[in-house]
Amino acid sequence: MTGGVVSSLGKGLASAALGALLQARGYSVRLCKLDPYLNVDPGTMSPFQHGEVYVTDDGAEADLDLGHYERFTGRPAVKSDNTTTGRIYLSVLQKERRGDYLGATIQVIPHITDEIKSFVMDKDGTADFVICEIGGTVGDIESLPFMEAIRQLGNELGRERGLFIHMTLLPYIPTAGELKTKPTQHSVKELMGAGIRPRLLLCRADREIEEDELRKIALFCNIDEEKVIPALDAFSIYDVPLAYHAEGLDDQVLDSFGITDAPELDLSTWKEIVHRIKEPEGEVTIAIVGKYTNLTDSYKSLNEALTHGGIANHVKVKLKFVDSSEFDGHEDDIVDALKNVHGILVPGGFGERGAEGKIKAVQYARENNIPYFGICFGLQMAIIEAARNLCGLKNANSSEFGECEESIVGLMTEWVKGNSKEERSDSDDLGGTMRLGAYPATLVKGSKVAEIYGADEISERHRHRYEVNINYKDQLEKAGFKFSGLSPDGRLPEICEREDHPWFIGVQYHPELKSKPFDPHPLFVSFVEAAVQKSRLV
Ligand code: GLN
Repeated sequence: MTGGVVSSLGKGLASAALGALLQARGYSVRLCKLDPYLNVDPGTMSPFQHGEVYVTDDGAEADLDLGHYERFTGRPAVKSDNTTTGRIYLSVLQKERRGDYLGATIQVIPHITDEIKSFVMDKDGTADFVICEIGGTVGDIESLPFMEAIRQLGNELGRERGLFIHMTLLPYIPTAGELKTKPTQHSVKELMGAGIRPRLLLCRADREIEEDELRKIALFCNIDEEKVIPALDAFSIYDVPLAYHAEGLDDQVLDSFGITDAPELDLSTWKEIVHRIKEPEGEVTIAIVGKYTNLTDSYKSLNEALTHGGIANHVKVKLKFVDSSEFDGHEDDIVDALKNVHGILVPGGFGERGAEGKIKAVQYARENNIPYFGICFGLQMAIIEAARNLCGLKNANSSEFGECEESIVGLMTEWVKGNSKEERSDSDDLGGTMRLGAYPATLVKGSKVAEIYGADEISERHRHRYEVNINYKDQLEKAGFKFSGLSPDGRLPEICEREDHPWFIGVQYHPELKSKPFDPHPLFVSFVEAAVQKSRLV
C-alpha cells in the first residue's frame, strides 16, 4: 500500500480496514509498516511531531498505525511489524561490522533492499495475507529504497502473489466545481517511473466521485475500471471497513489474486459498532488534561479506547481537551475548565511543564467525587497530590522534574523482566531504555480493579521511566489510597485506587493500547459507566 499526492490520506486506516475485511472472509493477515525517517523508532520523537508512540507486548515503540492494525484485526502487533530507514541501516551496518558480508562492498542495492524485503515477508509464514504500508508519499527521496525493494518483491512474487495498491487524493476545486484527477495521474506516473505498476487505486475524496471521473482515471492510469475504488470521507473510522467493502475493495483485492472461491463475509459486528456510534442513547463529557492537546493524534489510542467505552455503554463520549501547561503559574484556574465534565482523565506525559495543573485537576476530581482515571503520568500526579494534600508531605514530587526532598515518584533503576533483571541509570541513552512492553501484575482480591477485570492476574503494556515509590505505601494507604495492583514480586506499584471515591483509579501502564471496538478494555467500560452515572447526578 503506497500513497500519493499528499500525506495523511489514511493509508494506515485503509490497510487496517482491508485487513479486517480479509479476516472477516476467514483469512489470516499480518499488517506491517515501513517508515522512511532515520530515527531507529519513534520512541524519541515528540508527540507534537509524530503523534502517539504505540507500544507492543514485546516492547517496541512503534508507529501509531500499528494501533489501528491491532484495533481493527485484534491481532496483537509485534516489534517486527514496524521498521524505519534508520533501523534498516542500523541492522545492515551491524552485520557489516560483524563481518557477515564476507568482504563485499555494502550498497543500497542489494543490501539495504534485501533487508527491506526480508522485513516485508512473513518469516514464519503463518499469514495468508501480508499488508505492508509504505510510509510517506511517492516521490519522496527518503522512500526510494523502499520503492525499489517492493518493486523487486512484486517481480519475485508475480501477479498471483503480489499486488500494489495505491492511495491517492482527488482534490475538489471550488471555482471549477469539480474533483480533479490530474494529481492522481501524476502520482501513478511517478510510481510507474519507479517500476511499480499499481493494479488497484483507492481514491480519497470529500464527495461522490462521478462515474466519468473514475473511468478517466482507469483510462489514464492503465487500471481496470472496477479497480478504481472511491474512498470517501467516513463519519467514523469504524465505518471504513463497511464503506470500502460496499465499494468493492475486498472483492477486487481477491480478484487481483485470482481468488474466486473466497468465503462470504459476516460484517454484523462492524455494523453493530457503527450503529451504536451513529445512534447513541446519551452523551458524557470527559476532560483529558494533558499537554499534547493540539494534536489529537498524540492521544490516538486513548481517544479510541474512550470511544470503545462509549460503544459498550451506548453513549457518545465527548472529549474536552484541556492543555494544563496553559495554566502554569495560575493552576487554580484550571478548575474552571473542568466544570460540568463527567469524568477527568490525566493521560501519559513527560516533563514538568503542565504538571502542577494536572495535580490540581486530580485534587478537583478527588474532592468533588468526579470519576478520575490516571494513566501512567496520571497515576504519578494523583500520588503526588495525595502525598501533598493528604499525607502532609508538602515537598512531594517526581524526580523526573529534578532533585526533590520527597521523591514520591522516582527513577526506576532496576526491575525484573521475565527471568532477568533490567538495570538503568541516569546516564543511559533515552532511546528504547524505558520499562517497555507487557508486564504481569497481581491484583488485590476484593479491590475495585479486581472486580472490573474479573481476574487476579493481568498483563498490560508499559512505557515509563519513573515509578511510584513503594516506600510510601503505608503512608498513602492511610490516606485512603489502596495499592490494588503490584508487580508479581510486590516491588512495583501498578495500580492505585481510592476507597472513599465513586471511581478513582490510577494505573502505571497504558490500558488504552489493548482496547478494541469489538472488545473494549474493561477499565474504559467501567470509567465511562461511572461518567454516565455522574451525568445522571448533575
Ligand atoms: N514521564 C513518566 C515516566 O517516564 C510517565 C510516562 C508516561 O506517562 N508514559 O515515568
